[in-house]
Amino acid sequence: MRPDFFDIVEHAKSRGFVYRVYTNGIGLTADKVRRLAALDPLTVELSIFSADPAVHDAITRVPGSFHRLLRGVRQLKEAGLRVYLKTVVMKPNVAGLADLRKLGRELDVFTHIFSCEVSPRIDGDPHRPSAYQLDEDELYAYLAHDTWRKQLLPLAEGHPEDVARQRQSGGPAVNGGCIDPYGTLFPCIAFRVPLGNVRERAFRDVWFAPPPAIRELMAIQSYADLPECRSCELNGFCNRCHGDAMLERKGDWQNCRPRARRIAAAERKLYQLLSKEAMPRHG
Ligand code: SF4
Repeated sequence: MRPDFFDIVEHAKSRGFVYRVYTNGIGLTADKVRRLAALDPLTVELSIFSADPAVHDAITRVPGSFHRLLRGVRQLKEAGLRVYLKTVVMKPNVAGLADLRKLGRELDVFTHIFSCEVSPRIDGDPHRPSAYQLDEDELYAYLAHDTWRKQLLPLAEGHPEDVARQRQSGGPAVNGGCIDPYGTLFPCIAFRVPLGNVRERAFRDVWFAPPPAIRELMAIQSYADLPECRSCELNGFCNRCHGDAMLERKGDWQNCRPRARRIAAAERKLYQLLSKEAMPRHG
């Protein structure tokens, strides 16, 4: 944790910002939780990978991290904070999801979110995390499980070109941005094209005069503005992220994002199957 974390939060609060804290929970102490509670964050969001300490610790590669995380969650709850748990479903933890869901309920957290997308590393090395990404059969089995099945609805329906026009695509540099520890402002955490540096120019000046590459990004409003997405038969199920596409495709971010395609394909396949099952039989 940055030694000036609380200074930053206090300053942000004094300027009227609402803030959320993302943490792995390892460094939380009773004193830090007390200081955090006094600053009233909107949420405190923690990653949990398994209800089995050995699996969780193997993924974080930090022995003891599971027990420290749980202790942190309980302290945050006792302090009256809204705790979110977040789980990325991956090869090593997919078998234990029912237990993990049960643990989230026992901990009585505000919400527990599951996602099956493993993002590439920001340093452009997508290979190590991608070894954990579920393959198509595993994705299909995960989505078909009773627990998740009800979420399988297309985000929009119709001919691909019509769906593409209806669907907005991401919001980097529109509804948020990211400032790294050196003052560089980016459109989002994953989209690593700098807008400028807030240590050299006022945030307002940087934000409202973005370089040409960012103006191009801001011009993309819907799936219809993306060359491969506008006629893609999966665009009603796809949740592509421009930043992840940039990391995965080494800058070629406007075209298809392969990982998003794999998930959208599994969701559509299952949705079509379930729709057929639900259709009344005649004759
Ligand atoms: S699957 Fe690929 S081409 Fe199709 S909508 Fe998603 S990102 Fe675009």
